[in-house]
Amino acid sequence: MSPSRPHVLVIGAGTGGLCLAHGLRRAGVSVAVYERHRARTDGLLGYRVGIGPTGSRALRECLPPELFDTFVATCARSPAYFNVITEKLRQTASFALRPDTDPLGTDRSVSRMTLRQVLLTGMDDVVHFDRTCVGYEQHDDGAVTARFADGGTATGDLLVAADGTHSAIRRQYLPHAVTRDAGTINIAMKIPLTEHTRSLLTERILHGISLIFANGGVMGILHVMEFKWDTTGRPRSGIGSADAELLGHWPGLLYDNTRDYIAIVVWSATRRFPADIMRRRGEDLVQIALELTRGWHPHLRELIARSDPGSCLPVKVATSEPVPPWKPSTVTLLGDAIHTMTPGRGSGANTALRDAALLCRQITAAANGEKTLLDAVGTYEAQMLPYGFARVADSLKDNGTNGDDALYRPVVGRLALLGARGYFGVVSRVPRLRQRFVDEIYAYRGAPD
Ligand SMILES: Cc1cc2nc3c(=O)[nH]c(=O)nc-3n(C[C@H](O)[C@H](O)[C@H](O)COP(=O)(O)OP(=O)(O)OC[C@H]3O[C@@H](n4cnc5c(N)ncnc54)[C@H](O)[C@@H]3O)c2cc1C
Repeated sequence: MSPSRPHVLVIGAGTGGLCLAHGLRRAGVSVAVYERHRARTDGLLGYRVGIGPTGSRALRECLPPELFDTFVATCARSPAYFNVITEKLRQTASFALRPDTDPLGTDRSVSRMTLRQVLLTGMDDVVHFDRTCVGYEQHDDGAVTARFADGGTATGDLLVAADGTHSAIRRQYLPHAVTRDAGTINIAMKIPLTEHTRSLLTERILHGISLIFANGGVMGILHVMEFKWDTTGRPRSGIGSADAELLGHWPGLLYDNTRDYIAIVVWSATRRFPADIMRRRGEDLVQIALELTRGWHPHLRELIARSDPGSCLPVKVATSEPVPPWKPSTVTLLGDAIHTMTPGRGSGANTALRDAALLCRQITAAANGEKTLLDAVGTYEAQMLPYGFARVADSLKDNGTNGDDALYRPVVGRLALLGARGYFGVVSRVPRLRQRFVDEIYAYRGAPD
């Protein structure tokens, strides 16, 4: 180990940690990733993640080119519309999204499990599973040692906490940093896409992302995820020879049983759920979702009833409070470990990827002798903190992920619901407002004009 050719320890093989590890390895910087899951197939319950231009740019910067192409090939068909619907399946607004022609300029629908398998590709010698980090020590000579639950240790020049919302490293390094419950709970469900389930949805809903503003303080989102492989995991005919070739020899599908599905997430204020919701699983969660959606259109309820119980997941939505800058050292943080945000603007994974690319650039500059490692960490943190916590603040605004939202109040909630539906309805009907709305979505997600 030497400060000019640093060895980097990354805790957490999630979205941000793995993207950083790829980038460092490509730049010739020594890196090891430690992950608490026992194997690459663990922890794969999940939902759709929207990767926008910010996330795609970071992935293209850090991943080997062929793996970036594999990422693109493994995304689901991109949504063509953003719809706002009622719980009775009445469409109150629909916006045409940009066509999926540019690999960087679009918003991609990604299965969380598949993204994880893409990011784990070719990393067998870098990722160490079944290593739960429990703390660290910083030494006078500039080295830093991570301690693991199995009693082992690993020593390097920089320790990167990429260990998500409940980061053990953040708790030790920044004990004053606060993550808190946002006051809402999601139930995420996956329903196999079949001819029958397809027939329950309208064309616009089948080809779009649909936000459900329901009466009674419950919200939902519905995505249809269609991939380039069939039910046996083989590339479909007609996807193009380049994608067929990439998918044909990509080993990730051996570990990933993702097939076409409809993703539905329903959410509401925490008080609407049983106190032990986070311990509930499977059919129990389906029943709770059906209870919450009483009065919804029979097609939506049928879809929920047809959820694969093994795919149902309760998610307690969390957020974080801004942390004032600190003096840079041999420990730093990225992604949810420092700026946990609600899924309200679909930015958590994109921001973790942005952090990874920025930190990778800085560490590489230090490895190339252009600056010290501490200057590199300082530059990264000075940029990451403002944009990270700006996204945290945005994620809580006007989208129902905040339990204090007017939507969840008894009388005001009804007015807030009418206001939200009315707003989207008007904006979608006036061409100039509609265009501005769509342009703003892409600008926010990092697309160039
Ligand atoms: C319902 C929902 C929908 C979402 N949708 C979107 C979306 O559309 N777009 C978007 O950008 N974001 C979305 N997000 C947010 C996104 O999933 C996260 O922000 C993103 O995954 C954070 O990446 P990360 O690398 O920081 O952490 P993670 O991806 O959570 O990775 C952390 C890793 O660290 C490991 N780990 C934890 N503790 C330890 C330990 N002590 N030792 C070793 N390993 C450890 C974990 O097992 C995990 O593998 C959504 C989130 C939710 C809840």
